[in-house]
Amino acid sequence: MSLKDPLTFATGGDALDRAAHLRPKSAEMARQGGARLLPQWQDKPLIDISGPEPALGWITPTPEVLGKCAEAPVFLGLVDGAPRFTADVSALSEEDAQAAFGPRTKFIDLRAIAGQITKPEANIVAAAKGVIGWHRIHPFCARCGAASAPEDGGWRRKCGDCGALHFPRTDPVVIMLIVRDDKLLLGRQQVWPPGLYSLLAGFMEPGETIEDAVRREVFEETAIRVGPVGFITSQPWPFPASLMLGCWGVALDEEITIDDEIEDARWLSRAETAMALNGEHPQFASPRQDSIARWIMTAWIEGEIEVPAVP
Ligand SMILES: [Zn+2]
Repeated sequence: MSLKDPLTFATGGDALDRAAHLRPKSAEMARQGGARLLPQWQDKPLIDISGPEPALGWITPTPEVLGKCAEAPVFLGLVDGAPRFTADVSALSEEDAQAAFGPRTKFIDLRAIAGQITKPEANIVAAAKGVIGWHRIHPFCARCGAASAPEDGGWRRKCGDCGALHFPRTDPVVIMLIVRDDKLLLGRQQVWPPGLYSLLAGFMEPGETIEDAVRREVFEETAIRVGPVGFITSQPWPFPASLMLGCWGVALDEEITIDDEIEDARWLSRAETAMALNGEHPQFASPRQDSIARWIMTAWIEGEIEVPAVP
């Protein structure tokens, strides 16, 4: 893994042309030859399990298939010029859902297979899961409470009463490589598997810059002040709708005082971090393969991210 390798969910643009200008015509496009649809049931995408590796379970949006969908399908964009859609079939019972699209397919939790599907498919399913997850929990207008309906190929909802427009939400999260004198600051939450330590992270708040959010979160969780901050890269994280903003920061203090949000935080040397990433550390485990945390930690170990010295 290195900065040159694409991050899971983040290949952006190579596989999927969102073709937003076609969204108003999506109902006609769903009926055209070559159209494909990815059903989702209870936040799980349909997965084709017939091959050696799992793949997204694309099906043809026949009238029978469209009859099982809660609302008009969402137009995701074009893949090799052919329209791709996704739709929610959560109203089906579990038994009916698992039988509805044939024995070669199954609804599977994305967390379980994200690392096994191709990077372009992971990028498409991040969009599909995020937008359908939003529709599922936003059937009513947040302004007046009346029912709303999808518009623009499913990329907004309009209230049937007051006319307010609502747009799919993405929640920005800062996640940061905090370094001091060649040591890395890692933390763990109580609910994590034993030994797992990862980069500190937290949701951004209204009115904050990315840099301010990095400094606030690190100070809240560890009482360590952060000086210079820089941006590394970002990753969509569709659990349910986050955008991870990967940053580096220079720690101005060394002494850690943890707060209630985390169970522990500590400094790891480069060598200890490398051992944890390789699964060879007796005490510390590292984050999952498809996470931006692991990607950034690995790139730092490899010398691909330069963090300035303490000022
Ligand atoms: Zn309304």
